[in-house]
Amino acid sequence: MSADNLNVSRENGWDRLATALVQGGRANVEAKGTLVNLPVTRGSTVLFPSLEEMNRTDGRSHNHVAVYGAMGTPIQHELEKLLSIIEGGTHTQVVNSGLSACTVPLLAFLSSGDHLLLPDSVYSPTRRFADTMLRRMGITTTYYPPMASREEIKELMRPETRVVFAESPGSHTFEVQDVPMLVEVAHQNDALLVLDNTWGIGVFQPFSKGVDVSIQALTKYPGGHSDVIIGSITVNDEKLWKTLRDASIQLGQCAGPDDCWLTLRGLRTMGVRLNHQSKSALEIARWLKTRPEVSRVLHPAFSDCPGHEFWKRDFSGSCGLFGVELKPEISVSSAEKMINHLTMFGIGASWGGYESLVLPTTGHIRRVTDEGPIQATFRLHIGLEKVDDLKADLARGFDCLNETKL
Ligand SMILES: *Cc1c(COP(=O)(O)O)cnc(C)c1O
Repeated sequence: MSADNLNVSRENGWDRLATALVQGGRANVEAKGTLVNLPVTRGSTVLFPSLEEMNRTDGRSHNHVAVYGAMGTPIQHELEKLLSIIEGGTHTQVVNSGLSACTVPLLAFLSSGDHLLLPDSVYSPTRRFADTMLRRMGITTTYYPPMASREEIKELMRPETRVVFAESPGSHTFEVQDVPMLVEVAHQNDALLVLDNTWGIGVFQPFSKGVDVSIQALTKYPGGHSDVIIGSITVNDEKLWKTLRDASIQLGQCAGPDDCWLTLRGLRTMGVRLNHQSKSALEIARWLKTRPEVSRVLHPAFSDCPGHEFWKRDFSGSCGLFGVELKPEISVSSAEKMINHLTMFGIGASWGGYESLVLPTTGHIRRVTDEGPIQATFRLHIGLEKVDDLKADLARGFDCLNETKL
């Protein structure tokens, strides 16, 4: 059964994580007489009692006592431990943005002459990185339709294909990918499956599906308050970890202790926020489906969302981000007027905070996927506001849309 006709989303994966989100990543939790939260420890230089002691410390390892602040402070390492629990992997590297979490593994695992497969629905800055920097380094990229079949993917694989990248659901267009199939084809070819798992945090368990590298823009729900830019890369294999850790250090990747602290603080309440926001989002998405102005609601829990069957099979819930496609007769400029008319929904990039957002998504770049005629589309992020208030705001927007159409 799909969520079109359910009152609530499928039982969500955050309940499973509820205790970990509270207890994990708190190295001090066992000690008596300490504060609940880890302190922010700022620092670059690490002092040693002797040269011998300094030489014994391996800066490349994941020790709490490293030789330099760029290898990570104690609070960064606690955040990394909690991310490993959430993603179900063994090691996590925290980096300075979600975008770095996409680019660092590509730099770590690709070399000149290698070939990369990217889904046509990929986050556009990842696309730009492949088209400019990777290209300059002699790494070739082929874009594949996010809904490509096993045979189509096999045909696109080359002997030099080293990474198959997936992002599920896709940015702006929300296609849910058949990740286990992509894993199989990649592994048959000795390639890695790297997944941008930002939308699926906690409800898509990447390593149980064979994924090699899982990426999070922690900026979204883990941060949760639109006040931090930070990312993470998780693996489940010692050899991959060594390569990834080495690349991260060479690229100077770490995150400031204040940002790590904010992210840990965000994670403590992420489960309850997501529970609430996913329910509100489903309610609003269902209501939008009944509106005469709307041709399609791109929500993975709905049966008409591309890849809905994979969402049903592989995910244990959804988040508060989805797309809305307006009827073909509604012009892009009328849709823009409607968006300008909204007062509850902030116009802005990013998502995952406590507040509602809207972003036009008409005419995103696609290279291989035939989109047919361009229809006005926008993306909604549903925050913690009262659902009726959000619906009333959207209803006023539709009224304005109908007036401008005349
Ligand atoms: C936001 C986002 C990123 C980038 O994260 P930043 O922290 O903003 O750099 C990467 N991938 C996806 C799917 C995102 O939504």
